[in-house]
Amino acid sequence: MEDVVIIGGGVCGCSLLYALSRYKVRVTLLEKENDVGAGTSKANTGIIHAGYDPEPGTLMARYNTEGNPLMYALCESLDIPHKRTGSLVVGFDDQDRATIKDLYERGIANHVPGLKIVEYDELHEMEPHLDKEALCALYAETGGVVSPWEFATAQAEAAVQGGARVRLDTEVTAIRKAGDHFIVSAGQGEIEARFVVNATGIYADIVSRMIEPEYFAIHHKRGQYFLMDSAASYLANNVIFPCPNENGKGVLVSPTAHGNIIVGPDSERVTGDDRTNTAAGLAFVRGMAFRSVPDINFSQSIRNFSGVRADSDIGDFLVGESKHVPGFFNIAGIKSPGLTSSPAIALDMVRMLGEAGLGLEENPAFMPGRRVKRFKDMSHEERRKAVEENPLYGTIICRCETVTEGEIVDAFKRPLPPRSLDAVKRRCGTGMGRCQGGFCGPRVMEIIIRELGKLQGGPVSPDSVPLDREGMYIIAGETKTPEGEGE
Ligand SMILES: Cc1cc2nc3c(=O)[nH]c(=O)nc-3n(C[C@H](O)[C@H](O)[C@H](O)COP(=O)(O)OP(=O)(O)OC[C@H]3O[C@@H](n4cnc5c(N)ncnc54)[C@H](O)[C@@H]3O)c2cc1C
Repeated sequence: MEDVVIIGGGVCGCSLLYALSRYKVRVTLLEKENDVGAGTSKANTGIIHAGYDPEPGTLMARYNTEGNPLMYALCESLDIPHKRTGSLVVGFDDQDRATIKDLYERGIANHVPGLKIVEYDELHEMEPHLDKEALCALYAETGGVVSPWEFATAQAEAAVQGGARVRLDTEVTAIRKAGDHFIVSAGQGEIEARFVVNATGIYADIVSRMIEPEYFAIHHKRGQYFLMDSAASYLANNVIFPCPNENGKGVLVSPTAHGNIIVGPDSERVTGDDRTNTAAGLAFVRGMAFRSVPDINFSQSIRNFSGVRADSDIGDFLVGESKHVPGFFNIAGIKSPGLTSSPAIALDMVRMLGEAGLGLEENPAFMPGRRVKRFKDMSHEERRKAVEENPLYGTIICRCETVTEGEIVDAFKRPLPPRSLDAVKRRCGTGMGRCQGGFCGPRVMEIIIRELGKLQGGPVSPDSVPLDREGMYIIAGETKTPEGEGE
């Protein structure tokens, strides 16, 4: 019997798994996809929010402000790509100036450090490509950017190294109570647990209804983006927000943790996990972005993508034990700033589980840190040493992002080996650059087939390796019959 079963391997589930791995707790995370961080956690803006935006007194405000420094600390200890860029909310008129003043005061009420209002000259010195009509801005020193999917993967991997378990391709379909514990139907079997935590993002209401009466609903709101080539990185030094409106924080222009510029998102209600990009949505994003940074050249866009927000009808994050079913906990309605808040939510959830009777004795096998070899970031001397130690580090596979065969092969030795082309991308950065995998894709595919074959102890068919989720195949079958086998 498990002490805790976590359902959902996004940043919330993975942060909790890692936080629990600090203790001698039997914990398993169940994820329906073939990788962790494959839901909303891989498709968002990746901003480490400072915490001036949420309404004081809400869980959003508390977890955002507490999560911000935790996020930087975890990024340092687990070697997760991030940058402390600072962020700006830019104002163009008197009404915006009043909004900026309100946000500043909200930030002070939320105990956000390092806030100040900057005026014209300082603002344009900080951001030379900002529209010349921008008058002032709220500057937040603690704003930054992170690789959101690596924030999930790194924590899950470290937790597994510390003794926690992750089961992929394992969808939870039913939960029932049996005396003092739960029986969770997942994948082909059942798993018993004393406590269950529902961290299933946009599906949290559906999973909650497996065991609780209906008392909250999740609405799905899609946000669309342009990802710009790193050649456009000169456009923004800080995360540049417009003043927020009733639809949220507005269309921002921001550096990413990987050296690109990201532009978006819009906000549109959708059904299910509808991540379609639409011409209308993208046109809206383009138009709004020009308002802040008129020099953007959208022909430098290398990809469009979208993510879906989990917007609950409760109006705040829903974090805690069920009033109806003791031992069942929800982490639900975690829209933005959910990424930033996730490590604080995790710590609070550990506290709540402790209060509910979970023993929290220190785990001597806990992994407090890890280091990832990234050829791109190495000095000349480090590269020479890496190639000497492992000649595969001398073969560049992804030329746009300078990723070597050694890094890809090493990813298969990590606790959660990749199983798709995009899972390799999320761990190593292959296909993240200008060609978006056009050149390296087939070579990465060959390496996946070879390395998965070694792990599984038998040949792996090329048409069984998906682009990302199961069912998203790149190779559908043979186009020519092998020589000598007839038609
Ligand atoms: C457009 C957009 C922009 C955003 N920008 C930011 C930002 O800049 N900064 C910030 O702090 N936050 C941001 N957010 C919010 C942030 O991305 C989310 O709050 C966070 O990713 C939510 O994580 P999660 O773990 O709750 O959900 P998810 O990442 O969706 O994870 C839930 C997991 O549960 C799994 N699952 C679902 N049902 C089942 C089941 N039955 N059995 C097993 N597994 C199941 C799913 O496959 C998924 O992997 C943004 C969100 C969006 C959509």
